[in-house]
Amino acid sequence: MPLAEFDLIARYFSDCGHPRGDVALGIGDDCALLRVPGGKQLVVGVDTLVEAIHFPPDTAPGDLGYKSLAVNLSDLAAMGAQPAWATLALTLPAVDPDWVRGFAGGFCELAAASGVRLVGGDTTRGPRAVSVQVLGLVDPGGGLRRSGAAPGDRIYVTGTLGDAGLALKALHESRWSHHLGPELRRRLDRPTPRVAEGIALGRLASAAIDISDGLAADLGHLLSASGVGAVIDLERVPLGPQMRRYLAETGDYALPLTAGDDYELCFSVPSPRVPQVEVLGTQFSCGFTLIGEAEALPGLRLRRHDGSLLILDRAGYQHFVDS
Ligand SMILES: [Mg+2]
Repeated sequence: MPLAEFDLIARYFSDCGHPRGDVALGIGDDCALLRVPGGKQLVVGVDTLVEAIHFPPDTAPGDLGYKSLAVNLSDLAAMGAQPAWATLALTLPAVDPDWVRGFAGGFCELAAASGVRLVGGDTTRGPRAVSVQVLGLVDPGGGLRRSGAAPGDRIYVTGTLGDAGLALKALHESRWSHHLGPELRRRLDRPTPRVAEGIALGRLASAAIDISDGLAADLGHLLSASGVGAVIDLERVPLGPQMRRYLAETGDYALPLTAGDDYELCFSVPSPRVPQVEVLGTQFSCGFTLIGEAEALPGLRLRRHDGSLLILDRAGYQHFVDS
């Protein structure tokens, strides 16, 4: 007997994520009731993934469940927020209990690992799409924004860049398929949101953003919001082993700089706080890498060690010019 759509959330998501004492009323009523701790600010974000636009139709449901929460947690991480609750809206072409069970497995695994409780959900019939809302907490005046960078601040990133982009390229273009191992594939399918890193940086970084659309674009957003520019040293951009091999074969710097889906953090640090941030970076397995410096001159300049600048156009074409 087919499962009624309205049963799906109750059946597969009623006990999803980390049990939290601050959920006065969770899944099952018209809305959830949440106890927001006194003296905290609520941080709220939402993100939608649409099939064939944000994920291929053959994406494993468990990976999609994991990633749909991960990309939202990454936004909370970029705000330095502690994740607390989530709501989920699933649009599905048909009632498919196996698919929903798989999706719930990935989603709830990450929720539990992140201290997040799923407190509400909705299902609708239509082309497959996933909307996740996350709610987190910061101290008033705490938290990170895109707009705080000043000239002289150092620019850092977490982890390595371009891995998800290289995985996607290797999936779609057979001549690069030799780069695709399980580790690289995981970077695309199950990205790790840098939640603990973002919280720890809350009082040290002057600005932050998560890298969902590529370093060049997202750092560009941070710089515009802050009213500054920056110079980035290309050789400092942290790359994983596969990306280094790919770069050695191709010289294609555009990929690690413009490929999306990394979900690393990019943040700026006032120079007096650099020593603290350097020590902090050693406490996280992803590490923090200094890649450049904010400047008063607007725009993003990508510099090689010989002083030449990498120019990227919208099509990803790259060339070097003397600065
Ligand atoms: Mg973001």
